Amino acid sequence: MKVFIDGKYYDERQAKISVFDHGLLYGDGIFEGIRAYNGRVFKLKEHLDRLFWSAKALLLKIPMSHAALTAAVVETCRRNDVRDGYIRLLVTRGVGTLGLNPNRCKKPSIIIIAGTIQLYPRSFYEKGMEIVTVPTARNLHSALNPAIKSLNYLNNILAKIEANIAGVEEAIMLNAEGYVAECTGDNLFILKAGQLLTPPLSAGALYGITRGTVIELAREAGIPVSEANLTRYDVFNADECFLTGTGAEIVPVVKVDGRVIGSGRPGTVTRRLEENYHALTQVSGEPI
Ligand code: PMP
Repeated sequence: MKVFIDGKYYDERQAKISVFDHGLLYGDGIFEGIRAYNGRVFKLKEHLDRLFWSAKALLLKIPMSHAALTAAVVETCRRNDVRDGYIRLLVTRGVGTLGLNPNRCKKPSIIIIAGTIQLYPRSFYEKGMEIVTVPTARNLHSALNPAIKSLNYLNNILAKIEANIAGVEEAIMLNAEGYVAECTGDNLFILKAGQLLTPPLSAGALYGITRGTVIELAREAGIPVSEANLTRYDVFNADECFLTGTGAEIVPVVKVDGRVIGSGRPGTVTRRLEENYHALTQVSGEPI
């Protein structure tokens, strides 16, 4: 595997960054997880837009343009023969001193890894998955806004640990007010009386690229979609529930905190959106 670091390609074993990089010392940096399907990088523009928005919020100056990053992502896929795979793009604050002052970091670093992804087991897609709500609340947007896709994922990792302890692979995180924010690495949707509902960004959700695509696909299919504050009660009483994410794509949820959702099987609207999503991944994106 060839890894892109600051304009050069390194063999996997030589692909290293400094121990003084504030990405490591403080989690000071940002990232994107991107998929390639059928020889195209899916939704690359949207991922790069979000990367630049995260950077802006952190006053982190990405030392490459949008166009140059597009070319670098595509080239990294080419050099690794990735036609269907997963791309991890990171921008770290760069090498600095042991203090946390980001002004002492002279140049942010850009890393691009193009490889494969480990997906949820097939059975989750066939039969639906079970999730729980965990005690760790999602970060307050007034403290560390979940819209920033930063290298500091400890909030999500704590929730993931709680999910693991409960014997499931994903978990609902509530915000400080008790409304559903999102899951540890996925956004959440419910279907109620023919309407698709998903928490707004102000509830503490990431502006998920898959979330955005699903909203578009639903509207095209004539399914009304709204952003709404959801309680656990709303989720328990949903007709259908599913999660979205670049890695997960669309995964049906059939049990939440021991409550069976809808019929207990993946719903028909979920299935239809899954089909439309997969069809879209095969025909759109930045050619590799
Ligand atoms: N929420 C969180 C916390 C995430 O890390 C992710 C990405 N894995 C998502 C939602 C889904 O976002 P996307 O569809 O852009 O992958």
